[in-house]
This record gives sequence, C-alpha cells and structure tokens, in this order.
Amino acid sequence: MAKRDYYDVLGVNKNANPVEIKSAYRKLAVKYHPDKNPGDKAAEDKFKEASEAYGILSDKSKKENYDNFGHAAFENNGGGQGGFGGFGGADFSDIFEDFFGDFGGSRRNSRRNSNNRGSDLRYDLSITLEEAYSGKKQNIQFSSSDKCNNCKGSGSKPGHSADRCSYCGGNGKVRSNQGFFTVQQTCPQCSGSGEEITNPCNDCNGAGNKQTSKKISVTIPKGVDDGTRIRLAGKGEAGTRGGASGDLYLFINIKSHDLFKRSDVNLFFEFPISIADAALGTTIEIPTIDGKKAKIKIPDGTQDGKQFRLKGKGMPFMQRGDYGDLYVQVKTEVPVYLNKEQKDLLERFRKIENEKSNPSIKKFFQKAKSFWNS
Ligand SMILES: [Zn+2]
Ligand SMILES: [Zn+2]
Repeated sequence: MAKRDYYDVLGVNKNANPVEIKSAYRKLAVKYHPDKNPGDKAAEDKFKEASEAYGILSDKSKKENYDNFGHAAFENNGGGQGGFGGFGGADFSDIFEDFFGDFGGSRRNSRRNSNNRGSDLRYDLSITLEEAYSGKKQNIQFSSSDKCNNCKGSGSKPGHSADRCSYCGGNGKVRSNQGFFTVQQTCPQCSGSGEEITNPCNDCNGAGNKQTSKKISVTIPKGVDDGTRIRLAGKGEAGTRGGASGDLYLFINIKSHDLFKRSDVNLFFEFPISIADAALGTTIEIPTIDGKKAKIKIPDGTQDGKQFRLKGKGMPFMQRGDYGDLYVQVKTEVPVYLNKEQKDLLERFRKIENEKSNPSIKKFFQKAKSFWNS
C-alpha cells in the first residue's frame, strides 16, 4: 500500500507552523490512542500513522528532508522503520507527558533511554552522473558498533541479569543539596540506566555492544544531486541497554562528467561544428545522458554561441515523473592545417563574398566609418 502524505495524515497544509502541527497531532492522538480504543486495530493503525507523520514533521531537519524528497528521504530497504517507537531520534515524551499523563501505563521510557541512543553515522558515497540519472542499488560496508550477540545487548553474562545500580538505587538520577537548592543529576555510575552489570558478558565486557563490520544494501533514488543527504533510520550505531539505534546518513557526491555539466535538473554542453555546417546547415547526432543519441537540426546561417534546448533530456526530478532539459551550445570551429585544395577554395570564396552574406561585418564598418568622419 502506498504511504500517505504526512501532511494529509495530520490534515494540515504544507505551510503549517510547528504549533499547528502539534495541535493537529494532539487531536488525532487523543482520538485514536490505544488506551482509549482497546482492541481496535483500525484506531491503532491511525494512531501509528499519525505518530509517524508527527515524528517527521515535528523535527526541523527531518521535515526539510521530507519536503525535499518525500518518503524516499527515509527509505531504508525493506522497512523496519514503520510504526510507533521506530523513530530513534523523535522524542514523543514531552507530548505524552503533556496530555497522557493520566492514562498511566502507556508511557514509555523514552526519556530515560534517550541518553543511550546510538550515534549517527556518516557515509560518503561517490557516484557517476549516469548513476544519478538512473538511480541504483548499492552495497555499502562500514564498521559500526552493533548489539553484542552473546548477551543480546544486555551486557550481562547469559543467564545473569543486571542489578539495580548501587549508587542511585535504580532511579538513574541522584539528588544533591547545593546551598538552598536540591539539584537532580543523571547518576554518574550508571549514566541514567539505573542498572549495574555485576556479571559482565565475556564478549563485550559488559558494554552490550561490539564493533562489527556491517554490510547493507541501499537504494539511491534517481535524480540525486551532489550534496544530497539520505537518511537511513536506525542504521547507525546500536544504542546501549535498550536505547534506540542512531541513523546512518548517506552523503552523495557526484563525480564530474567529461561531457555533461549539470545545473539542478538541467544538463549542458558545448558542441563544436565546422563553419561549413554552420553556414550551410545540417543535422547532427549528439549524446544524451541516457546513453542514447538525439538529432539536432542546425539551420543554415547558425551563429557561434547559438543554444538549442532538448526538452526532457536532462536529469530526473526526485520523486516526480518528469525530467529537466538538455541545453547544447554551438561552438563554430575555424578550420586549421588547411591543405592546398581547401586553401584555394577559401580564396575563391573570399573573392566572391559579398556584404549581404556578412551583415555584422557590414554594420561594424558603417559605424567605424562614421566614427572616423565625425
Ligand atoms: Zn555481550
Ligand atoms: Zn545509578
């Protein structure tokens, strides 16, 4: 099933401000919250859909990516991201504490775990202009911290579990008195997890994570430009002790092309033609980025610098079916290394040249003459 537009899901328009977005989400969340609709699958789906849309549209940089690239900005091959709670970075806790405080039970530990979220990773990928044109699947390999297999990320020896942190008693926070104030801080011993590993896993020494080499397949959407950033949600470093994984950001670099220059969705190149072709007219074949050829009719009397536009022969717009244009500019080449026959012909041509066939030259000397005479 095609994913619905996030703005449609929340029922707001694209120019909605953060307050309107939050308020639209709040209405839907109150209506469809699972605690209010027990066992109602349709309501649960609506709630998840709205939460997902809010997770993106409430985050400035995610919203920007979504506005630019649509759902493809968050594509991560085979999903794994859908549904509530799958948005590593999005912090719903404020909105839930805000108005679900009295529901009890349904609140998640997201705030407590947010310190344990894995790091985001950056991966730079160089591709050719042709690959940007057609899009591609690409395997990438990188080293990243991943959940330890031996302890399933718990950090404790299999068969053992973590104890309550002896320093904070499992709260994850400690209070200290400073003058008149009581200051609450994250527990320095357990970093807020509230747990203490007393029987550390032999493989990861209690960290719960291990450095591993990861290989994933990513889809580069067609139309990507130099500097395009693609976010792969949850593909970054693993979180610790139940924390969410970070995201992987793919930074696209497009190698420069021998022939085509690119500006946004348009392509450009100069092509040289002989003065005979420019004067007499001809039809020539030029290359296009799809690897094929296109024909251009050069009319007689074509001047140097004349530009032709080939509609739809440029780069694809991301997330749209249409394409930019190809602009080609004529560069007339004055012939060099002439042989005897060519020289003779041109000498004859020079003798029978008349003013009418060179209107610019005629105009220039008229101006020069009146300048000298004034
Ligand atoms: Zn382990
Ligand atoms: Zn502690």
